[in-house]
This record gives sequence, C-alpha cells and structure tokens, in this order.
Amino acid sequence: MPLGEFDLIERFFSRAGNRRDVLLGVGDDAALLEVPPGRALVAAVDTLVEGRHFLPDAPPESVGHQALAVNLSDLAAMGAEPAWALLSLSLPDSDPAWLEPFARGLYALADRHGVTLVGGDTVRGPRVITVTALGFVEPALALRRSGARPGDLLYVSGWPGEAGAGLEALRATAVPADDALVHRYRYAEPRLALGRALRGRASAAMDVSDGLYGDLRKLCAASGVGARLELERLPVSGELARRHSRADSERCVLFGGDDYELLFTVPPAAAAALEAGWSASPPLHRIGRIESEPGVRCVRNGQLEEVGGEGYDHFA
Ligand code: ADP
Ligand code: MG
Repeated sequence: MPLGEFDLIERFFSRAGNRRDVLLGVGDDAALLEVPPGRALVAAVDTLVEGRHFLPDAPPESVGHQALAVNLSDLAAMGAEPAWALLSLSLPDSDPAWLEPFARGLYALADRHGVTLVGGDTVRGPRVITVTALGFVEPALALRRSGARPGDLLYVSGWPGEAGAGLEALRATAVPADDALVHRYRYAEPRLALGRALRGRASAAMDVSDGLYGDLRKLCAASGVGARLELERLPVSGELARRHSRADSERCVLFGGDDYELLFTVPPAAAAALEAGWSASPPLHRIGRIESEPGVRCVRNGQLEEVGGEGYDHFA
C-alpha cells in the first residue's frame, strides 16, 4: 500500500530535533524559529533535479546527503552557523525503499552540524528535491563575494577536482560503490568550520560548486578585481594524481564542480595568523593573488598560460 502524504511525513520527516530555538517545527502550518538577537538570518535554497544534479541510479542516501550539503555549503561560504532546514520533495511514488535511506543520509549530515528539519512540502511529480537552509551570522562578519582587494592572497581549501573526477568516472564506466573519488562526489563535506574560522579574516569567500576557474571569475567580478592563478600551486590530491596525468588532474581541479570547497581571499597581513590558527583539515592552499586588472590570468612558474575547459552550468 503506498503511503499517503501525511503518513510519509510522519514516518520519515517528523523527527524532533533538540534545538531550543525551534518554537514550533514540523506539523503546523509553518515553523516558528527564534533568531538570536544581533544576528542576521542567512537563507539559501538549492534544487536537485534527477538526471541533472544526481544520476537516476544514485544511492538515495547520497541524494539525501547532497540535497542538504549543497545548502550548508552556501551557509559555510557566508561564515554562518547553520540552524534549520526545510525540505520540498517532489516524488513519483512513496517507496519506503527509496525514502528510508534518503532520510537517513539527510539526517546524518543534519545531526553532525546541529541542524533541525523544521518543515517542508511533499507533492507527486518527477523526482525533484529542494532544500532551504537557514542559519545566522553577525552581519558585520558575514563573508561576501565582493570584498577581495588587489594584493590579497587567494586560497582554496581541500581537494578540488576529486568530485568532478568521480562524476566523470561514474559516467564513463562501472565503478565500485566504494571508489574514493565517487565517494567525494556523493558525500561532499560542507566546510562549515572553515567558514566560521574565516569570519573577520577573509576579505571575500564563496563555495566552489561549478568549477574553480569559473567560480573564481564570479568572485573577481563581484569584487571588481582580477586574479593571477599560479598553476604549479594547484592542489592535486594523491588519489587524483594516481589515476590521472598532471594535465588531466589540473583540468579536473580547474573545471570540475561539486566539491564544495571554499575559495577565499585574505589580506597579506592576516594570512599568517589564519594559517597558524587553522587545524589543518581541510588543508588550505594558497593558489594565487588578487590584482586590479579584471579577469583571471593563469601563470606557470611566472609565464602566462592559456587554459581551456568549461565549468558547470545547470541552466544550460
Ligand atoms: P500545508 O498544506 O499547510 O502546507 P502540509 O500538509 O504540506 O501542510 O504539511 C504539513 C506539515 O508537514 C507542515 O508543517 C510542513 O512543513 C511539514 N512537511 C510537509 N512535507 C515535509 C517534508 N518533506 N519534510 C519535512 N516536513 C514536511
Ligand atoms: Mg504544504
């Protein structure tokens, strides 16, 4: 017997959280949430469409993770504390064999970051999942894309390129479910602790969802500056290097999306303290410098070099 909407919500999505700022959660017409005094509410929403943002045969647990992770990554890029999430589900059926692991993946990530699911909507249709994430930040400390200044140092966290390489591998061949790069694609970690550590230190930040090169262009455009990207400094993970040539690895790092690493700029005077104060995971890589001339210039050992490739455009 297929589950009705009420039973489906009751069974999979009405777990009570333990946040005291949730005055009213799932079950009423809307949630009642208390924002701490002096903080701004930070809101982000992202939609995943089956066949476009996740493969039809993706493990449902990974889809649940991904739906929340992409939103928490946006909060991380603002330096925000995540607090609440809303989940809008369009589903072709109410199959518990899909919903149970989906909910497990979503709640596992939510629990790790103290996020409570406070509401949503459930309709029948093609599989489309929209999560709204809410959090808060002291307004003066929020990280924006627009604050980069000439002379600032340019950093990226972690191992960009691994997720993109994992997605390519999935599309090309049958890969084992525990493949390290595929795992990075399916279970990207939102860099929330790093985002918080960057408050008051980074001049600009964004999360890398559509590829480092293209996203750097967006950050530069928002700040009215340009950047010099030092190709020999691009971080290539051991796993990427083991499976791809240097040129191919660099292409993944520059143009692969879905890593949800943070790209950020730091005034030179603040860089040493930031690096010394950071816990090493994920590692921080200095990959270039902000300049006044607009656009992104790639250099290798001081020589200009053209790079070719395309990032992700989910509306194309
Ligand atoms: P309404 O018709 O007033 O929008 P619904 O029947 O859609 O109410 O939802 C009932 C309650 O269940 C609301 O509190 C809503 O936020 C919550 N809800 C609905 N779908 C979901 C979901 N997929 N995940 C979490 N909460 C949900
Ligand atoms: Mg509704």
